[in-house]
Amino acid sequence: MGETTSAPSTVVLFPQGVSVCEATVVLAEAAGDEGPVVIVTDRTPFHPLDHTWPDQPGDRGTITLGRREHAVVDAVTMAVGPDGTLHRGEEIPARRTDPGWSFLVGHVLETPPDGSPADLVGEQVGLAVDVARRSSLSAAHTACHLMSLALNMELRDLWRKVPRTDCLGSPDFDQAAITRSSITPWESVDRYRLGKSLRKAGFDAEALPGRLDAVREGVTARLSEWIAARGRIAIDTDGPWINSRRWWGCELPPGPARLPCGGTHLGNLGELASIDVRIVIGEGELVVNTTAKQS
Ligand SMILES: [Zn+2]
Repeated sequence: MGETTSAPSTVVLFPQGVSVCEATVVLAEAAGDEGPVVIVTDRTPFHPLDHTWPDQPGDRGTITLGRREHAVVDAVTMAVGPDGTLHRGEEIPARRTDPGWSFLVGHVLETPPDGSPADLVGEQVGLAVDVARRSSLSAAHTACHLMSLALNMELRDLWRKVPRTDCLGSPDFDQAAITRSSITPWESVDRYRLGKSLRKAGFDAEALPGRLDAVREGVTARLSEWIAARGRIAIDTDGPWINSRRWWGCELPPGPARLPCGGTHLGNLGELASIDVRIVIGEGELVVNTTAKQS
């Protein structure tokens, strides 16, 4: 990486649930001397790892160049600034709305294509996401959002001051305390800080250990009720590009839920049979393991 280039932001098709498409190569190069070849196309169904909130991993799948199919082992977010320098992942120094910047989806190839990567620019290729893995990540991501809303509800009595509320009107513990969310097939692990700043914000962290069993039971009961209602899920977006803003919307028994989210999701809660949660208090943090099961 590091060579100069220019390209418009990548159009993404995963918000509409698309998993296969034809596209044109706009950029192809090796990441360093020994690194894998990364291919950028004008549009893609691949969901890349986000560079600012890396919760959902990049999609895997295949790219067909000519007659040869290559495995895509990762999808990453890249960006090109006004000076034409290409940046990748966490090294991106810009925000997605910064003027003069293009944001791109890079498909990381397992094996290099024949010839020089630069010769691929302008070629038509076929892109196909591994849909079984995608579904398992979508299920985990949907379950993770539901868990956060149920957790906010079950912790509402532990706030001494009213902080910002979530889309269902509960004090937003998730927003106030989350430090990291990791999504893997069928599972997510969410970590919440319980330290001084949260107590200052008005959360009674000392009372939490004595309430943990009740909180877990409450969250589990709510999640079962919500899944049973089989609410529809929709992704809204303000544009077709990878750096456009997107929101997850879901019909739930308490009302419509809406959260900013760049990830992928199920289409309906009826696709889930159950969501199990394990909640433990670690060193200065609350750790929630959420496991989704397919119906
Ligand atoms: Zn999300």
